[in-house]
Formats: sequence, C-alpha cells, structure tokens
Amino acid sequence: MNMDVLVSLSKRRGFVFQSSEIYGGTGSCWDYGPLGVELKNNIKRVWWRDFVQTRADMVGIDASILMHPTVWKASGHLDHFTDPMVDCRECKHRFRADHVDALPWVHYCPATKGNKFTIPAGEPCGHCGQRRTLCPNCGKGDLTAPRQFNLMFKTFMGPVEEDAAVTYLRPETAQAMFVNFDNVLQSMRLKLPFGIAQAGRSFRNEITPGNFIFRTREFEQMEIEYFVNPNDRVDGRPADEYWHDRWIEDCMAWFRRYGLSPDNLRLREHERDELAHYAKRTVDIEYKFPIGWSELMGIANRTDFDLKQHSKWSGKSLTYFDDERKEHVVPFVVEPAAGVDRALLAFMADAYREEEVRGEKRVVLKFHPELAPIKIAVLPLLKKRDDIVRTAHTIRAELARHWRVVYDDTAAIGRLYRRQDEVGTPYCVTVDVQTVGDSERGETGDFRVTIRDRDSMEQARVPIAELGAVFRELLEGAAWSQVSARYPAPPVKASGP
Ligand SMILES: [Zn+2]
Ligand SMILES: [Zn+2]
Repeated sequence: MNMDVLVSLSKRRGFVFQSSEIYGGTGSCWDYGPLGVELKNNIKRVWWRDFVQTRADMVGIDASILMHPTVWKASGHLDHFTDPMVDCRECKHRFRADHVDALPWVHYCPATKGNKFTIPAGEPCGHCGQRRTLCPNCGKGDLTAPRQFNLMFKTFMGPVEEDAAVTYLRPETAQAMFVNFDNVLQSMRLKLPFGIAQAGRSFRNEITPGNFIFRTREFEQMEIEYFVNPNDRVDGRPADEYWHDRWIEDCMAWFRRYGLSPDNLRLREHERDELAHYAKRTVDIEYKFPIGWSELMGIANRTDFDLKQHSKWSGKSLTYFDDERKEHVVPFVVEPAAGVDRALLAFMADAYREEEVRGEKRVVLKFHPELAPIKIAVLPLLKKRDDIVRTAHTIRAELARHWRVVYDDTAAIGRLYRRQDEVGTPYCVTVDVQTVGDSERGETGDFRVTIRDRDSMEQARVPIAELGAVFRELLEGAAWSQVSARYPAPPVKASGP
C-alpha cells in the first residue's frame, strides 16, 4: 500500500487534515479531525491503562512544555541536539548536509548546450560525466559549508525579547521525569524499581520533515522513564539489563496486541557508533511503514547519565536510599519512548484492507475494537418511518453513555455499512420494521435489532434490552462467533451485508 492512499482516506473521512489548509498549509503540521482525535485518544488511553493504571510500579505526570532553560544545558540538547545543514546561495533551499547526496539533482549540461536534466541520486551525468557540485534543487547555486543547526524551537518567556528571557519548547518529554524524580519519589514513597510515564507534545525544528505524520515538527510522545537500582540483580543479571529486555518484550507485545502484524514489526539493535555516549544499549522497534522499515519507538538504557547531569547543574541530590545496603545510589534508567503520531500511522496502515465482496471493492480498516474511533453505528433501515428513526436515536443515546456511537441515515443500508467499514467501526446496529412492528396492521415489533460484525459481515438478531451487555462483551474482546452463537441470524431479506 502507499502513503497517498492513507493521506487521501484520512482527509476524506476526517482523520487528519493539513494544518491551516485554507491558507495553503503549514509545513509538516497536521490537524487531527473528528475521527483522528478519537483514534489518537484511544491509543493514549490504552497505553496509559496498560503501562500505568494497571501496574503497581508505575506513576504518571503531566509537566509543562516550557521548562527552565538550564534543563537543556544539563541534558545536552543546547550543545548537541543539532543537525549539520547547508543552504543554497541561489534558491535559498536548505538541506541536511548528510542528505544532499541522497537526492536526485538538477543539472544544466555543458555537453548538450546547457539542457536541463534531473539525474538520479548519486549518479553522474550520462552526457558529460560530471558529478553534482551545485544545489540539487535549482542546479545553479553553490552550497554553503555545513553549519550546525539546533533543532529546538527558541522562544521568549515574558514580555521582553532579550537573551535573558530565552527558553525553548521541549524537544522531548523525558527531561520532566528526571527533574521531577525526587518530587515523585518523595510524594509517592516509591521503592525501586519504578517508572514515571508521561504523554505530551514535543517540538523539533526538523530540517527535512515529511512523509505525512511520520516526521513532523510538532508531535506527541508517550514516554516512560523506568528507574532501577544498578546494584540489584534479577535472574542473575544486572537489574538494568534485565528490565531493558523486559521493556523491549512488553512494548513489542503491546503493538501486536492492538493489531500490528508480527510480520511488520522487527527489532533493531543500535550499533556501538550510533549509541549516545551515555547509553549502554538502545533497541528500536521498527515497523514496515508505507515508506519502508522505520523507527516506531526506541528503548534505551540511559544509565545514570540524566540524573547525574541534573544533579550537577541544579546542585540538588537526585539519589535513592538503598535500605538494604544502607547507601545512596543514583538509579539507572530504562527509557521506552514512543511517538503517538507514528503509532497512529502504523495502526492505520496495518488495519487497511481492500477486499472483494460479491464483485465489489470494500475498503475496511480492521482496527482493534479498543482503538476504533467509532465503536457502533446505529442505522435505521427506513428513514421515512418515524418509529424506526425514533428507536434508532434512543438506542444511540443509550449506548453513547459508554462508547462513541453515531447515527446515520443519509444513504441506503449497503452504503452505510461500507462507510462504517472504511473508518473501522466494529459493529453496526440496524433498526427495521420487524423491530418496531406495524401498528396500522396491528403487528407488534419483536424489539430486536440486527447487529452486524465488520470483519465477518455476519449478522445476529439481538433484543434491544441486551445490547449494552452484548457490546460490553464484544468491545472487551469476546469473539463475535462466541457471542453471536447465542442469537439467531436475521432473515436474509432484512438487510444485505
Ligand atoms: Zn538552489
Ligand atoms: Zn552533463
């Protein structure tokens, strides 16, 4: 599948829009629409539930985006969070110095009276044999020497624009967990090992963002800093190494649990020369995105570097008292760091299917029910019948107390099903004549509705009174076949799949 399919579906169905589109868009900024925000919130909610709420060794925080500027001195971001960049003196285009040779280049060839060619990346001109020396974008300008460009967004705190008031939008959420280490430790009376989690926005002024929501300048992270006592051993191994492996397994299992295919996931061990100088080991979970294998999240063993740095720059002790050994120790930290936007892109890409149903194409997003932006759609079979419409609205309102549920009567039933398939709604409820009966003919209804399962397209006839219990079961993971076996299938004529 390619990215354009996802970009177009995202816009058409309200998942993701280009930011400020009516003004021509803002570079690499995206807005989550009505379905996108539900999907994104669901991802964050299950992450928080699985990694914070249900664990006795985890707590959360929600820190401010603007932090004391010294935080970024201590963390190394001020001095080292840079990319080398070059500018074209002619067209002013900016490139990452290490990416220039990976671009196709424009060339005005002296051997063919200056004709313009676009030559594939890294190749010489087929006519004159020259290699690229000028700007690949315009083919005319010289490139400046590489300069280091800091990726942090700079801003001013307070009303005056002067150097003393300079601060930065955080480039990662992690530092707030380190600077709050002692506050959290003392207020919650925690024992090692324990972790602090946070989900929130971060900002990086990437020189070359792109690939839809894969790399953006404003993004959301879900990060955990898991503190362990480096003197402890678990299963005969140093505690930090044991917990690093545990987190790698747990994160991998989490992505699989919510629907990513094992074939599209792999681990990548960072080479020695890729590792930050303080990192003992880093492993990426990579996903086979439409753009190829790329980082979905990273899990790093950052040792005691961060706490020691902040202790040094703040003059405050950031240690833990080891009761057993009667000594103060600086914990090691294992950091599982995931991007919400990337996770969302992966879940969408993996859920996307094009199927053929009776000679027609059906596009379906097979989201895990917990991630699906809409859980249930309530559809009236005949919108001219007041009693059918009224019953459908009542059912929607009742179910909407627990889940995101929509009502739609703007097309024929087959069309409505396809629309819900395309946004990944796991279940549809259809209210028909049989449900409400026909008072003019003296026929009473059976007060049952048809539930239709997105993946199998099978249907079952369920009493209205049991809908809440049935959906609770289904949305909490019960198999359709198991639940539907208790109910009769509807008569075929009622509504097509
Ligand atoms: Zn240029
Ligand atoms: Zn040439």
